Amino acid sequence: MLNSSLPWTKDYHSLFSKKQLSHAYLISGRKGIGKKQLAEEISRKILCKEERFLDSCRCNSCKLFISSNHPDFHLIEREKEKKQIGINQIRECFDDLFESSFLNGNKIFLIYPAEAMNKDASNSALKILEEPPKNSLFILVSHRSQLLTPTILSRCSEIKVNTPKREQVKAWLKTEGVEDRDVELALNLSKNRPIEAAKLLSQSLNENRELFISNISDIIKKGENIILVSEEWSKDLESLPIKIEWMVDLLRDSLRHHFYQESCNTTSDTDHISSYLGKKVNNQTLFQLLEETNKTWNGINDETNLRIDYLLKALFISWNIELAISS
Ligand SMILES: [Zn+2]
Repeated sequence: MLNSSLPWTKDYHSLFSKKQLSHAYLISGRKGIGKKQLAEEISRKILCKEERFLDSCRCNSCKLFISSNHPDFHLIEREKEKKQIGINQIRECFDDLFESSFLNGNKIFLIYPAEAMNKDASNSALKILEEPPKNSLFILVSHRSQLLTPTILSRCSEIKVNTPKREQVKAWLKTEGVEDRDVELALNLSKNRPIEAAKLLSQSLNENRELFISNISDIIKKGENIILVSEEWSKDLESLPIKIEWMVDLLRDSLRHHFYQESCNTTSDTDHISSYLGKKVNNQTLFQLLEETNKTWNGINDETNLRIDYLLKALFISWNIELAISS
């Protein structure tokens, strides 16, 4: 369950003292910086039976935790293929709430990510948060805490986790045995988010990136394969958000080229596209597309009844119409 501890999250551990626990915490910060792992480490520490917790501890509780079998630790997350956490998941878990804990300590409920709870689930969680039973602890982890209701927020002590510094992430990737070759690119593309960078590097980054650039070039240049690419991208929901972020980056880079010409800091492997667009497309159009692309990003991350491949298709069509390179 747990990999080695993430160095940049160490300082946050001291905010959780076993003797002075709140009933509910919200751990917030950008996606891909290790918040869930932090929440799990803290849970293990709170449940540990020893007076003084050590990473090497193998007390009964720690053993159960490490093997993902701790009866008093409940992880509530999206079920496979689902975009939301439903009310049944919350209810099922909370049924345990009023029974005494197995190991005679706390019961911990980790909700990840909290913004994935649908309205009913969120209301149900709120009721419990308003009157939490003794020895129960709730940890909500959120990438976008602004989507949580104010009433939920008001019940939680918030801990904001900062994105680590680039040098820290680089050092960590090195200890994880990641090859140096692509690290800089991964850091740029993930904007220094370590877990995201590690994920990119584990999925043959160069190939994925090349495919992305080729897909986008085809769409811009010739309006080619829009339906095919929409379908392909919507099949891989895991990597979809970052691809949309790359589209946003491409537009931002184009705007940089538009306003600053040569001397700007842009992503190098798409520079040939962004410098061209910066020269040929007017800034109003670029801003408008930026807004639309950001909206699509929200659309794919939020629960929506629209089909994701339709959302993508609409976005690609706009890109083609607005950016089409007539030769
Ligand atoms: Zn222990």
